Amino acid sequence: AHAQRHRSRYLFFDPLKYETTTRRLKLTALISSAQFLEEFELHYQPIVDAKDKKLVGCEALARWCSDELGQIPPPEFIEVAEEIGLIAGLGELILQKACLQAAHWRTLAPNMIISVNVSPLQIVDAHFQQIVENALALSGLPACALKLEVTEQLMLHDEEPLMEKLRYLQSLGVRLAIDDFGSGYASLNYLCGYPFELLKIDQSFVRHMLSEPGRETLVRTIVQLAHSLGLEVVAEGVESNELSVLLTEMGCDLLQGYCFSRPLPPQTFTDQMLGGDSGCGTQVYSVGI
Ligand code: C2E
Ligand code: MG
Ligand code: MG
Ligand code: MG
Repeated sequence: AHAQRHRSRYLFFDPLKYETTTRRLKLTALISSAQFLEEFELHYQPIVDAKDKKLVGCEALARWCSDELGQIPPPEFIEVAEEIGLIAGLGELILQKACLQAAHWRTLAPNMIISVNVSPLQIVDAHFQQIVENALALSGLPACALKLEVTEQLMLHDEEPLMEKLRYLQSLGVRLAIDDFGSGYASLNYLCGYPFELLKIDQSFVRHMLSEPGRETLVRTIVQLAHSLGLEVVAEGVESNELSVLLTEMGCDLLQGYCFSRPLPPQTFTDQMLGGDSGCGTQVYSVGI
């Protein structure tokens, strides 16, 4: 009995769990520090029209290179911010930054659209509509130039107030997109009831499409389903020209992926995508990876 107790006490110490917890604590401390605001930035990935591969907009993607820990993957620090109740504030900052950037780019490319990821917890926050309206008002960006991307995770939250909120945003002219479609656990019900206008097919379907015929069928079917419900379809994770051709043939409306460009820092985006006499409507040539 003694040995058993002894052993179970050893088992209690899980080195992997310890490491995870230590990193979490570290990230929590770092995110709450002023330093974070200096290290945090947004990069922007081009989104192109599938028909002619012309630039139509971009997705803002959060980046954090910590002086202490190096590059932190966005899903990791977003999750920490959610856990410690900082996501509303961080989300607001992201929204403001992205809207300001887009408003600036629209002076070079008048039709440019910006997509911003929003966490379900941000939307559930009582002030969310106001935060979106403020970001638009402060930047002067028209609502129709803003797309908000939310994952299916959102649908696990209570329905009525959420529906009202989304309808209100839609009434402003903001467009709503379902991100990572097919990767979550939500039922398909929300596709009909909620005011989504775009559907982004999860990368995992797109990326393995060429090697797994089953996935190709799945993507084809998702595109048809979305179109029959009146939704635009975006394919992300388009890494090769071959995929780009196939997705275009399937009827995807918009494409995004390393094949066109990786996410870029603002200045690089301006130089590469909006430089010279180009602008929105410029063809983004496949660059390969
Ligand atoms: P997401 O919204 O689905 O963003 C697309 C992710 O795919 C980005 O990863 C992008 O860099 C990556 N990607 C784009 N094209 C390709 C490709 O061709 N191949 C591959 N392998 N990857 C590609 P990233 O930037 O690491 O972001 C990961 C996730 O973190 C995002 O997924 C989003 O869920 C979350 N995230 C990023 N920025 C924000 C933000 O500002 N707010 C919130 N709430 N979440 C964010
Ligand atoms: Mg997204
Ligand atoms: Mg996605
Ligand atoms: Mg994702």
